[in-house]
Amino acid sequence: MSGGALRLTGLTRVHGKGSVPALADVDLEVPAGSCVAVLGPSGSGKSTVLRLTAGLDEPTAGSVHLDGVDLAGVLPERRGMAMVFQRPLLFPHLSVRDNVAFADRVRGAPRRAARRRAEEFLELVQLGGYGGRPARALSGGQEQRVALARALAAEPRVLLLDEPFSALDARLREEMHELLAGLRMRLDPTILLVTHDHAEAAALADRVAVLDGGRLLQAGPMRELYARPASLAVSRLLGGRTEVAGVVRDGRHESPLGALDLAAPVPDGPAVLVVRHEAVRVTTAADPAADAVGTAVRVRPRGLRALVTVEVTGDGRTATVDAELGPGEDVATGRTVGLRLPVADRWVVPVDHDAPAQPVPSPSDA
Ligand code: ADP
Ligand code: MG
Repeated sequence: MSGGALRLTGLTRVHGKGSVPALADVDLEVPAGSCVAVLGPSGSGKSTVLRLTAGLDEPTAGSVHLDGVDLAGVLPERRGMAMVFQRPLLFPHLSVRDNVAFADRVRGAPRRAARRRAEEFLELVQLGGYGGRPARALSGGQEQRVALARALAAEPRVLLLDEPFSALDARLREEMHELLAGLRMRLDPTILLVTHDHAEAAALADRVAVLDGGRLLQAGPMRELYARPASLAVSRLLGGRTEVAGVVRDGRHESPLGALDLAAPVPDGPAVLVVRHEAVRVTTAADPAADAVGTAVRVRPRGLRALVTVEVTGDGRTATVDAELGPGEDVATGRTVGLRLPVADRWVVPVDHDAPAQPVPSPSDA
């Protein structure tokens, strides 16, 4: 199997006259053999992207190109695409093997040949030996493997995955991630994956497109989005927790945390400092390298690494910074601590009036 190059241009879907677009003017490239994740909250238009790509729904405007060919008017079954949904949608009364062989049989392949190919794809998803079982006898994770084998057996130019692992528990989900990574090495498919889980996008995709309210907010490699979100909305969708309102003056961000140098030049004016909790280090109040000193107001254990919220007061105003502690590190609530915010991990985004940053109390009510 070799994947095709997918290009979505100005893709728009409006369901009713005067209603808010489910998808608005989305441009997205999925290079051949790559995996692109569409990441967004529920209702953001993720499934709409897949349905329009697959031809299950028609765009109000815009186009879908596969290897340079416009797919307008091309029937879903002629697009060379296969989809895997959150629910596996197997035929429960058929054997696992015949579920995978189904597409070949419909296309008129002889039963024996179709079953032989089905077995090959079952091997690929590590279900060799399960072919004779009835599909209803499988666990959720196994069902999803069969759904994946069935999709791959169609040898699609593009594999469309609509939150296929979100119903699985964490351990199974991780197994599926490893399986998919292995399949990518062996088959080189083009994958458009939809997920609401930024960790899943980070684990699987070469590039990520962040969708909210039907609009594409930002696209790029996941590391870049984590480190340099274009907006507060992107920062939040990627699990960013710290938002410190302030003002940029002469390349420094001024806030209750003090005047902090920024790694990149930023124009003067109001701006929100964001910094990943994974990058912040909690030290002692006496730490000469601390960028700010504050009080630990909340500590939440998260496995080996606790998450601590530190309140910092400056100029009569208060800001909070979240930090992930190192394994085994602990901080008591109420303790005064130092915070190190590495320059490379500081980033500012514009003030978002629709999604106000953490309220900044005025000096009078502090
Ligand atoms: P997601 O997959 O990100 O949860 P969807 O793409 O399913 O989001 O939906 C995007 C928006 O379009 C939602 O507001 C949803 O209610 C709306 N929508 C989806 N399908 C229809 C439809 N057939 N008729 C009207 N609205 C729809
Ligand atoms: Mg959906």
